[in-house]
Amino acid sequence: TLYWRTRRRKRLLADNSKLFEPRAIELRSDDILSGVTGLIGNTPLVRINSLSDALGVEILGKAEFLNPGGSVKDRVALRMVEDAERQGLLHPNTGSRIFEGTVGSTGISIATIAKARGYDTTIIMPDDVAEEKVKALQALGADVQRVRPASIVDKKQYVNMARQAAVRFGRTDIASSIEDAQANHELPTGSPSVVVTTTSTHVQVDDSAEDPQDEELLTKPRGFFADQFENRSNFDAHFEGTGPELWRQTNGKLDAFVSGAGTGGTIAGIGRYIKSMNEDVRVVLADPEGSGLYNKVKFGVMYDRKEAEGTKRRHQVDTVVEGIGINRMTNNIDLALPIIDDAFRITDAEAVSMSRYLVQHDGLFLGSSSACNLVACVKLVRQLGWKEGQTIATVLCDSGNRHYSKFWNTDYLQRANIPIDLSIVEDLLKRP
Ligand code: PMP
Repeated sequence: TLYWRTRRRKRLLADNSKLFEPRAIELRSDDILSGVTGLIGNTPLVRINSLSDALGVEILGKAEFLNPGGSVKDRVALRMVEDAERQGLLHPNTGSRIFEGTVGSTGISIATIAKARGYDTTIIMPDDVAEEKVKALQALGADVQRVRPASIVDKKQYVNMARQAAVRFGRTDIASSIEDAQANHELPTGSPSVVVTTTSTHVQVDDSAEDPQDEELLTKPRGFFADQFENRSNFDAHFEGTGPELWRQTNGKLDAFVSGAGTGGTIAGIGRYIKSMNEDVRVVLADPEGSGLYNKVKFGVMYDRKEAEGTKRRHQVDTVVEGIGINRMTNNIDLALPIIDDAFRITDAEAVSMSRYLVQHDGLFLGSSSACNLVACVKLVRQLGWKEGQTIATVLCDSGNRHYSKFWNTDYLQRANIPIDLSIVEDLLKRP
């Protein structure tokens, strides 16, 4: 069985290699790009003028909201699909279906790429996320299912529901087991401390009864659980894509990189690439209310006993920040933690006020995680002691237009008692 399995895998790999066209790293703006996936990545780096001028420090943002699916998650979705195709787990135009549990951005990216590559999509998300993400998913033809917010140990939590739906679909595989990660990806050079562990249930397709010679199998529908939290392709998209781009764009002149973490893929991938180029660059986490990562970085535990009393978990906190913050360990968080030097906890009021400040002063209309990241950049400058000429880079994950019903909804914020107060930002920008 093992022999046939290996042979079959090799044949599938050969078949799928035809599907995979490496994309040019250095794109010029006058190149003609191939389809919607050609528009993904190679995003510009923008100087945040108001903050940079006020601080005397260069604050730069990677404009990920310019990706065609509207967020940084396009890179990850594309890489997960490409890797699955290379591993023979997905075949276009066979009625195959991609399943994912997501608060929205990853779903929109997967749905976009799925249509371009010939797949269907089922997206399972909590029912408290901004309504416009659901509308975008439906417009993209995804099957959207909403579940109540719940802890990861609950079978009805959205990621668990997506995994179960994929298993029910049949012929489902997940590319995130330790073995697969080790077999399919070389550990990145320059980061010897990488350890891949998995907390997810690994679902392996049982194809031992299938005749390996049966060409028809290649045309049968398969389910694929993308599993962004555990999938190593998430990390690779940033380690091999976003990280090198940022390094090139700054000519390696970088003092710190700041990022929030939802799955951890962004901070782990970019952070590890940057550290592999220069280990003195600080990697700093921006963590919203309700997330356990701040405690994990500062004290080594997500919730110490003292703090656990009265501290609510991410799924219990009605925060307006979407896409970042987590209370559990995942493969990608595992990869991130060893290289995070410091963390800042960012309140909803700080993030909301920063977003309004940036529209007022820069005409930049950003989403909630971008605003969190920029608050953390300013806090970092205060902590480092205002050294002129420094450069701090972060990620502008998505635009404000994904957040009209919560983060950018004044009535909602009023009801939730979250102040919009530009003086919060002005005070942070004042030299002590
Ligand atoms: N910002 C937004 C808007 C997101 O959707 C996400 C992904 N959940 C992130 C930031 C965090 O990125 P990562 O999953 O790589 O930690």
